[in-house]
Amino acid sequence: MENKFMIYNTLSRKKELFEPLNAPNVGLYVCGPTVYGPAHLGHARPAITFDVLFRYLQNLGYKVRYVRNITDVGHLEHDADEGEDKIAKKARLEQIEPMEVVQQYTLHYHKVMDALNVLPPSIEPHASGHIIEQIELVKEILDNGFAYESQGSVYFDVAKYDKAHKYGILSGRNLDDVLNTTRELDGQDEKRNPADFALWKCAQPEHIMRWPSPWSNGFPGWHCECTAMGRKYLGEQFDIHGGGMDLVFPHHECEIAQGMAAMGHNVVKYWMHNNMITINGTKMGKSLGNFITLDEFFNGSHKLLTQAYTPMTIRFFILQAHYRSTVDFSNEALQAAEKGMQRLLEAYKTLGGLVATGETTVDVKELRNKCYDAMNDDMNTAQVISHLFDASRAINQLADKKATISEADLAELKEVFHLFAFDILGLREEQGSNSAREEAFGKVVDMLLQQRQVAKANKDWATSDKIRDELAALGFEVKDGKDGATWRLNR
Ligand code: ZN
Repeated sequence: MENKFMIYNTLSRKKELFEPLNAPNVGLYVCGPTVYGPAHLGHARPAITFDVLFRYLQNLGYKVRYVRNITDVGHLEHDADEGEDKIAKKARLEQIEPMEVVQQYTLHYHKVMDALNVLPPSIEPHASGHIIEQIELVKEILDNGFAYESQGSVYFDVAKYDKAHKYGILSGRNLDDVLNTTRELDGQDEKRNPADFALWKCAQPEHIMRWPSPWSNGFPGWHCECTAMGRKYLGEQFDIHGGGMDLVFPHHECEIAQGMAAMGHNVVKYWMHNNMITINGTKMGKSLGNFITLDEFFNGSHKLLTQAYTPMTIRFFILQAHYRSTVDFSNEALQAAEKGMQRLLEAYKTLGGLVATGETTVDVKELRNKCYDAMNDDMNTAQVISHLFDASRAINQLADKKATISEADLAELKEVFHLFAFDILGLREEQGSNSAREEAFGKVVDMLLQQRQVAKANKDWATSDKIRDELAALGFEVKDGKDGATWRLNR
């Protein structure tokens, strides 16, 4: 297929034709979670956005190596090098070992991602498992003269780097902007310049997560892990680096500087960032009381929620917006998304039962091209969904016998609908309530009722009654009607 995939590159600030460095291989790195608490809504958007990218690139025929890290060390409470390590703090509060915190919330994150039908990445490296690689990176930056040691810590020399390479190319900030917005923080007296950031921090006596290094017993600065692990698994140059827009500064800006300072070239070809989520029009934040975990969405327990929302509703709602637009969560919007998704899933079921009836009189011919055009336009999932809604309307017309379709077009419609709704957008029938098992049970009940019909036709009342009574004992209420028996499960 002709390559038409255009992606918006945050670095160049325009859409660019996607041309991998080493086709058909594609290297994709996405900043994963810092695992110190339950996964919340803010985790869902980048995970789903880059899951669709991962799925789509594979659909286009690329061999994708998708690396999504687990941050389990060095992410301090404030994104500047300040405060306690987020994981160490949780460990202190719960009086457990930091790696127990990491294990607990990594497993939880996987469970939630699975519920959202987010595919596992190809590699999921932990920062704490790559201390050696991070120390090597810091050494190189020191050797190249873009860092300095100060009281056992190592800082990146932003002013010196700025003269050689220009700092701030991703976020569009210049050094003065950065200086003006930098607060007076802990460790400032160790720095030559307030804009400098830590590559290695000497651990205070109470800091429990620490490793030996040439400079001190300490821990790596947060930004080092992605530069070190991206390079280890995807090479010195790779195709796509993604994450939420909140990571553009300082995290990704610092990654660019570290890569350039260590290797002398830009590491990443395309930078992609998803926009942020608001809740009822306000930013999400712990202090604002609107910090909703994904489990709270799934069981409806948060006070801002009027009902529970299934993982697929969350996924569908996020994909109904373009990834570079903001998304505002409200009960009304989620309920509308829930209905919309049900309409699509119902239409797909209806489609399975349609038969070709002749000449095609509905507008389904261009569906495949339209959906590809939308995806090729910087992954416009919102547009794909709107095309699938058009297709659903056509399907309903066919079911109502208000239109006809040829055999070839019907087969094409089934294939394209499945491809975009399930394979690429990653929707699926809800599994939250064991629905696959229940569906199988339902089929078994149908089979028994067919046996009962046969028994009745043979006037074998004993068998017929036995089937009815035994189903009743299991909670299945059977009703006989003109068109045969129907059943429902009483609980
Ligand atoms: Zn990162």
